[in-house]
Amino acid sequence: MKFNSLVIHGGIDGDEKTGAVTVPIYQTSTYRQKKVGQHSGYEYSRTGNPTREALEKLISDLEGGFRGFAFSSGMAAISSVLMLFKSGDHIILSDDVYGGTFRVVDKVFKNLGLEYDFINTNDINDISKYIKKNTKAIYIETPTNPLMKLTDIKEVSKIAKENNLLLIVDNTFMTPYLQKPIKLGADIVIHSATKYLGGHSDLVAGLVIVNNEELGNKMHFIQNSVGAILGPFDSWLLIKGIKTLHVRMDRHCENAEKIVNWLKEQEWVKKIYYPGIEANENKIMQMKKFGGMISFEVVNEEYLNKLLSNLKIITLAESLGGVESLISVPAKMTHASIPAEIRDKLGITDTLVRLSVGIEDVEDIISDLTLNLK
Ligand SMILES: *Cc1c(COP(=O)(O)O)cnc(C)c1O
Repeated sequence: MKFNSLVIHGGIDGDEKTGAVTVPIYQTSTYRQKKVGQHSGYEYSRTGNPTREALEKLISDLEGGFRGFAFSSGMAAISSVLMLFKSGDHIILSDDVYGGTFRVVDKVFKNLGLEYDFINTNDINDISKYIKKNTKAIYIETPTNPLMKLTDIKEVSKIAKENNLLLIVDNTFMTPYLQKPIKLGADIVIHSATKYLGGHSDLVAGLVIVNNEELGNKMHFIQNSVGAILGPFDSWLLIKGIKTLHVRMDRHCENAEKIVNWLKEQEWVKKIYYPGIEANENKIMQMKKFGGMISFEVVNEEYLNKLLSNLKIITLAESLGGVESLISVPAKMTHASIPAEIRDKLGITDTLVRLSVGIEDVEDIISDLTLNLK
């Protein structure tokens, strides 16, 4: 099956028992056993639930992986992956990973003895310098948030393989429709499915996909032991969201491209950050199209305020990836916890705006962004 059919018919499709076309919501915690220990394959819903399993098979098919796992949030997925490591292990991470990822490593896993370095993984040659005897994995995000920096997954995977390290890729911004990390050499792919995979700003969920049986067994052990599972209703809602992934992503990409071209003409826009621009500059061609995320710097605060007070359909809010356009000011919202000097050095200035381009009519989005400068 090709991708657009897989999003609809991948994984476990419908319900064998009743012929229902969509996967039913198995809203149950436990399952009848015919005799002691003789069960239908399901014993308890933390260990396994048919609705969640349908979602897990679906995402594994879409990413071209061996096995998938659904968690109660992106952070639960990330934390569960980090539990693959033990005290004294060392991991290398991109220095501009999602803020929550930085926080959980630096404030939670550090206390459990995990060692780590946050480095600029865009510079491939730099990575090797940080590999130590106890290094176990490289964790990257590409493109990054909010500056859309890219890391060459294939090149990093070569370094990972040479040194016997796991390569973990957070693929939230791209989704498997636009980028397939496992095909490029990754061992583990992570999603905040809260974003594009869910796609409707109506659920919080996380997914993990692994590329082999051994990692699959380890992840299932952690998922069942720690228990940060996604419930049956949210699993169903996420399957429903994924069914239109390809159609939504095409429109997100198309709208974003038009908006970038329009922004280029605006004199109040100082700099644009967009994966399409980064990919051309760095010759990294690992995504099918460039996604729906754009950041741009406005020349001054006055224009920024004008822009924000002009909005009719674009909502000022955190999060991204929904059908509706959302705008945020990272320095004051998602990235406020990073000290101002560091933010400025990174390029996350007070007038940087991040736009999650929705699938509305692009003319309406552009009309919201149009400033009356007189
Ligand atoms: C939102 C996000 C996360 C965290 O996911 P939650 O579902 O909010 O827990 C992780 N990585 C990236 C890239 C994100 O955008």
